[in-house]
Amino acid sequence: MAIDDLADKVLDIGRRRGFFWPAFEIYGGVAGFYDLGPYGALLKQNIIEEWRRHFIKRYPDLIVEIETPVITPEKVFIASGHVENFVDPIVGCKKCGRFFRADQLIEEKLGVKAEGKSVEELTDIISKSGLRCPVCGGELGEVRLFNLLFRTQIGPYQGSVGFFRPEAAQGMFISFKRVHQVMRNKLPIGIAQIGRVARNEISPRQGLIRLREFTIMEFEFFFDQNEPGADEYIDKVRNEKLSLITADMRREKIEEPQSFTIDEALRQGVIKTPWMAFWMYESTLFLEKIGVPRTNIVFEEKLPEERAHYSRQTFDQLVKTARWGWIEVAGHAYRGDYDLSRHKQFSGEDLTVRKQLREPVERRTLVVRLNKAVLGRELKDKLDSIQQQIKSMSPEVLKRELDNKGFIEVSGVRLSRNHLVIEEVVEKVVTISVTPHVVEPSFGSERLLYVAMEYALREKQGRLILSFPRRIAPVKVAVLPLVDNEKIVGMAKRIYDMLKETDLMVTYDDSGSIGRRYARADEIGVPVCVTIDYQSLTDGTVTLRDRDSWKQVRVHVDKLVESLRRFIYDNVEIEELGPIFFSEEKE
Ligand code: AMP
Repeated sequence: MAIDDLADKVLDIGRRRGFFWPAFEIYGGVAGFYDLGPYGALLKQNIIEEWRRHFIKRYPDLIVEIETPVITPEKVFIASGHVENFVDPIVGCKKCGRFFRADQLIEEKLGVKAEGKSVEELTDIISKSGLRCPVCGGELGEVRLFNLLFRTQIGPYQGSVGFFRPEAAQGMFISFKRVHQVMRNKLPIGIAQIGRVARNEISPRQGLIRLREFTIMEFEFFFDQNEPGADEYIDKVRNEKLSLITADMRREKIEEPQSFTIDEALRQGVIKTPWMAFWMYESTLFLEKIGVPRTNIVFEEKLPEERAHYSRQTFDQLVKTARWGWIEVAGHAYRGDYDLSRHKQFSGEDLTVRKQLREPVERRTLVVRLNKAVLGRELKDKLDSIQQQIKSMSPEVLKRELDNKGFIEVSGVRLSRNHLVIEEVVEKVVTISVTPHVVEPSFGSERLLYVAMEYALREKQGRLILSFPRRIAPVKVAVLPLVDNEKIVGMAKRIYDMLKETDLMVTYDDSGSIGRRYARADEIGVPVCVTIDYQSLTDGTVTLRDRDSWKQVRVHVDKLVESLRRFIYDNVEIEELGPIFFSEEKE
């Protein structure tokens, strides 16, 4: 299928067969909001379930899932840095009043890379190039920063500001200490969450790819940076390959990705921490499970000026699409100890973990001892405040001042060695405090839904088929009575009732010719149709028809559920379920 054709057909099938459409349609719609219809909602649930199975169920010793609120008090996003930094550059038209995302407008209209440039640089580019409003041709104003957080009020109090979370991550950082305790104080540990997030994108125009509200699937993977504990995992994948475009390659304008083994990427410092490499590899396997071949997956490193404020290194995981070119489906960020340290600082809670050392070590610390008798006599009612201030000062700084000047000055009061002594104390310690570092793989499920549909779409003999990987297909089985005969319909209904009680999502279709019903099932991606015919009445067998090969085999009803499960979950070929007795395939 030609590329443009493919992209149009995904949108067409999306709307016509009820996968997705613009939300609030009857009121004219609002950019950046989409509804998922019956099949879209099921497809998304299955993608989410696949993600859960891939990352959580396969790593029960490493990752646990939690759920935290969507509405979040302002304090959290002040601490996380989002109030200050979760911004995009915006530029308005002086004539028609429309707003555009400045860096994207420049990239689109002038073909110059502009992500990460300052507002001054962007304003300069716009004025020097004479770029004008793409809608009315009016003059563009100065570029400024626009915060993408959706703001609301919590309860009736105006000062009580809340935000709709733009990422699920903060929920994991805030509850880190509790989850860590519940999970018996282990490190490393991953905390996962799947949930709605919202970003007030400036001018979203890319359908499901750029939404103002979407579902994120992400986990924060906490580890001790000095002892990451990744070896046993990395050893299994050391020779596996990742396709990378590093920041250095981008600076040298090398656009072709280069293949690195995980071992090479780590030894050469291309990927900064082993856990990040490990989860990047697992994320490649995950995308394969939703139908993207490995050759169409690339990791592109962000340049420092393009990275989010919390990140020490970020790779975008890109997938090639017909409609939108290479798009980011996941971000892999090395967040270091940024978030835990900030929440520690802003909440005053100790978010470090105690780590048991193999051997005790000597720790030398400076301790400030106050001569309270002298201080009390001289300072009288100022005593408390001066004591507090000294406590909040670093003993190292105090010692340096005392050594250099012979006194220290606190709120205009001079204190000498008569008032305080600073001593070195040596102790043996068996535990130390560690602020874990974090890597975060973060997937958007609507983008994956779109990608899964594009990769599933095939055209065969003039008909459209959504060849989803069987596990993620929205409906797994269609039950079809061959003809409108009372006995055949009765048996079909009994089989339908039986399958409804299983974990297989099943549908029943008795309208129109059998050929049309197969075509309808193919178009929404049903992997297998069960047809009940005259022979079924005599020998208890039914036919199973494979969506992709159009081959049919006969299976006894007693073995039906087991056969369907093997076909859907174990991915066996249809021929393995019984002898082929018919194929619609024309040569
Ligand atoms: P980020 O936190 O920006 O790295 O986003 C994580 C993932 O969420 C991305 O890789 C996308 O899959 C998805 N995503 C981000 N922004 C949007 C959006 N506006 N609409 C839909 N999906 C998004």
